[in-house]
Amino acid sequence: MSGWVQVAGLGPGDDRLVTAEVQEAISQATDIVGYIPYVRRVEPRAGLTLHESDNRVELDRARHALEMASQGKRVVVVSSGDPGVFAMASALFEAVESGPKAWQDLDIRILPGITAMLAAAAQLGAPLGHDFCAINLSDNLKPWDLIEKRLRLAGQAGFAMAFYNPRSKSRPHQFGRALEVLREECGASTLISFAKNVTKPTQKLVTVTLAEAEPEMADMRTVVIVGNVDTRQIGRFVYTPRQVQ
Ligand code: SAH
Repeated sequence: MSGWVQVAGLGPGDDRLVTAEVQEAISQATDIVGYIPYVRRVEPRAGLTLHESDNRVELDRARHALEMASQGKRVVVVSSGDPGVFAMASALFEAVESGPKAWQDLDIRILPGITAMLAAAAQLGAPLGHDFCAINLSDNLKPWDLIEKRLRLAGQAGFAMAFYNPRSKSRPHQFGRALEVLREECGASTLISFAKNVTKPTQKLVTVTLAEAEPEMADMRTVVIVGNVDTRQIGRFVYTPRQVQ
């Protein structure tokens, strides 16, 4: 029996946004590995072992998946959204890089999913219709100064922006600082959208200007989208035109 590891994105929440490829991988798996709420999205069945782990143990989780694959198991590592966006795909390759050389020859595949910013953009209209960038606002894995520099430069360059991990209980103040930087670089009338629990029954969308934005509007279940200078509202929609003046 030859094992494999597939790192799969489950999308933002709605089961209809799980790709057919990911469903097929799960149906063939012997083991599912991942953060507790994502593993709970997988239907239990005979012959399938579910391994739930805590949030901050990505490397251990990746090593566990690779070890099981080298023993012949068929392992799916589940991520929310897309596994390549601030998620498990990079963690898996970090584990491969620092692990036994034989892991490089394992059958490893990354299965894309619909990432939060694209699901949020679709619910809002088309705020990412022109050039944009995505920034993780967590300073767990990089210094805050670098985050601030990237916000400034992205604002100066006129990118629309999507922010992941905008504000957590352990770092409640930094998002307020991020808003200050954005007001300086983008102007107070720029639109900012807070998209919470996108595609779930509890979804909530709020769009205001940077002048009106409050740090409390974001939490860890929110993806934040800041428009560019041309981003505007028409009726209930937010969109960014394709052409720059
Ligand atoms: N791999 C995931 C992102 C992981 S980082 C993806 O591609 O979507 C976790 C962050 O993603 C959260 O803090 C939040 O900013 C965002 N996020 C994930 N799912 C979301 C959802 N359903 N609604 C809003 N934001 C979400």
